[in-house]
Amino acid sequence: KLEEDANGVDSASSGFSFQNESKWDDHSSYGAKKTLQAWCKLSNGDWALGKVLSSSGSETVISLPQGKVLKLRTESLLPANPEILNGVDDLMQLSYLHEPSVLYNLQYRYDQDIIYTKAGPVLIAINPFKKVQLYGYDFIEGYKRQKMDKPHVYAIADAAICEMKRDEVNQSIIISGESGAGKTETAKIAMQYLASLGGGSGIEYEILQTNPILEAFGNAKTARNNNSSRFGKLIEIHFGATGRISGATIQTFLLEKSRVVQCADGERSYHIFYQFCAGAPKSLREKLNLRKAEYYKYLNQSSCCSIAGVDDSEMFFTVMEAMNVVHISKEDQDTVFAMLAAVLWLGNISFKVIDNENHIEVVSDEGANTVARLLGCSFDSLNMALSTRKMTVRNEKIVQKLTLEQAIDTRDALAKSIYASLFDWIVEQINISLGAGKRRTGRSISILDIYGFESFTKNSFEQFCINYANERLQQHFNRHLFKLEQEEYIEDGIDWKKVHFEDNKDCLNLFEKKPLGLLSLLDEESTFPNATDLTFATKLKQHLDSNPCFKGERGKAFTVCHYAGEVMYDTSGFLEKNRDLLHVDLIQLLAACTCNLPQAFAAKMLVQSDDSTSGPFRLSGADSQKLSVATKFKGELFQLMQRLESTTPHFIRCIKPNSLQQPGIYEQGLVLSQLKCCGVLEVVRISRSGYPTRMTHQKFARRYGFLLLESVASKDPLSVSIAILQQFNILPDMYQVGYTKLFFRTGQIGILEDTRNCT
Ligand code: ATP
Ligand code: MG
Repeated sequence: KLEEDANGVDSASSGFSFQNESKWDDHSSYGAKKTLQAWCKLSNGDWALGKVLSSSGSETVISLPQGKVLKLRTESLLPANPEILNGVDDLMQLSYLHEPSVLYNLQYRYDQDIIYTKAGPVLIAINPFKKVQLYGYDFIEGYKRQKMDKPHVYAIADAAICEMKRDEVNQSIIISGESGAGKTETAKIAMQYLASLGGGSGIEYEILQTNPILEAFGNAKTARNNNSSRFGKLIEIHFGATGRISGATIQTFLLEKSRVVQCADGERSYHIFYQFCAGAPKSLREKLNLRKAEYYKYLNQSSCCSIAGVDDSEMFFTVMEAMNVVHISKEDQDTVFAMLAAVLWLGNISFKVIDNENHIEVVSDEGANTVARLLGCSFDSLNMALSTRKMTVRNEKIVQKLTLEQAIDTRDALAKSIYASLFDWIVEQINISLGAGKRRTGRSISILDIYGFESFTKNSFEQFCINYANERLQQHFNRHLFKLEQEEYIEDGIDWKKVHFEDNKDCLNLFEKKPLGLLSLLDEESTFPNATDLTFATKLKQHLDSNPCFKGERGKAFTVCHYAGEVMYDTSGFLEKNRDLLHVDLIQLLAACTCNLPQAFAAKMLVQSDDSTSGPFRLSGADSQKLSVATKFKGELFQLMQRLESTTPHFIRCIKPNSLQQPGIYEQGLVLSQLKCCGVLEVVRISRSGYPTRMTHQKFARRYGFLLLESVASKDPLSVSIAILQQFNILPDMYQVGYTKLFFRTGQIGILEDTRNCT
């Protein structure tokens, strides 16, 4: 059966041609194993590996796995790598470096549970979605003794340790990838390796035990990941002069607060709520008047209270144990649980309308009274804070009654703010326990587990911030990979003109430019009391329409051309989320509570608003002043980048092989889009413009020397190598001779390798 399938073939991408046609024609004489193979793109976008049956210059007949035979334009095919390169450890070893060969190599390994592959300096980790036999004591020992050299997170962690000691420079392990790709698991695996170096007084165990706590309070089930981190995290592990772990510091970024009061169907709020409802002991339940998760409005609205295969009540004990390990006292733990219960009961507070202007009052029921008791305030003061607002108008203090809608927003703002403060407080306690405040003399290794680039059908303020962070990280990634790559050329003395790389400066500029950048304009608009999301969107269009990275859209939307693709943002809620104001009445309510945690939260909020009196962001007319969320986040990012800049980076790119969270399924299109998104193909592309294949003179002479038709007078590896290059007509600009190695452009070794196989 012969089918013509000229379309659906990516013809633009290859530099491949059948120069040596006779070789392709008499392929049958090579025997089945040596049949020449090539890649062709199917109409569904996937690549298939086919056997070349015949080729007549411009057309090639190829047979595909399921017995399908196609006649295609020769130029639309991409050459397949020789079989000895199947599943190489490092994509740089591939003679032919293109989309299908990269995809195939990763899949070839993935099918054998080899989830780690190097892409030059980057480690690619494909989520197995099942237990793989790659971890634990034996592996750790293997990598420590350098007996194992296969790509692995352990190898990266080990390299970080070695370089830290050798160069006396702090190190960082930067993990990225989309939601569910395995960043958090990878970070834990790296931590496990570092912890195996030991510390003394159990500090390494303590560091590991921060994970269940942070995951309970900061992770949630989402549509994409049953254990999705809703915050970014940098953990800096400190080493003493003797090379042992001496402590750690954790910094968190931008917790998704909105989830506390609202989450999409099928998703959950933070794990801790369900764990707590399911696992709290009887005495605690009675003390806090605790019910089942389903009873609480904040938890039952998404009609999902459990996760298949997860025992929340068991997890609660794990978290309590971990809290003991990081020295959070029983007393403090009880207060933490009281705050959790207060947040849940807040959601159950209801209001009754008291006049025909829709003004309300809090209903004095179980919900409101329990909240008041847990926080340590009276029902009246709670009612006052949730149903009225003190204002100053023309130097006169007035009390404004709130409408039902305003009161609900106020209640939810209080719940979000208590939870976010609680999260920060816990991180603070952990840091105290890990000795974050101590003076450090030694070096450190930081592990960054931060949300990857996000592009959904509807993208909001959260995606805006996350993607901005990713632009910053991408810039860091580009710069370092270019630098490293080019340094090797220079060290080996080859003739190398520095390559200028396409950076994402323009997009970063679109965000950061003052006064006419996305962040400045957002802050400016956030200060106008009468501004709306629509006026914000209009303002962006007015000022940024000529920017090539920006596109105005109809209505309230705009599009940003990110390095990883275009994302359309809907400005609904942008101003509100950016202001993130907790009205001063609520801060005062917390400050006056008899319970110590609300007091501490309020104190912190007041300090923050004081700190910012000289900051760029002002909300005119309001009593409370503080930094906008975007400005604060930008500041934190700058600080983060500064810290990372002073370290030697090690990059890990996590890949999600399918959207079903299932083992054994490898979707080419999904993998490819992530490779593109997280810049792996970019690194590959960069490498291709350079000399990605490199081999020492000795190895090259050994491997191909026997192909020489005439013997070379001098047997030194370099002379042999040069003779081989000449015999095969490898053009001078296709390779360079370094002091120790030969450097080749992509595909050059493939010709030698093919000949070698056919001989
Ligand atoms: P998010 O951005 O949503 O936080 P993530 O990249 O941190 O996502 P993880 O939570 O680390 O993703 O991984 C999702 C799930 O994939 C894990 O809960 C686990 O079931 C599985 N997984 C990831 N990595 C591994 C691994 N190396 N071995 C076994 N399972 C893994
Ligand atoms: Mg995570």
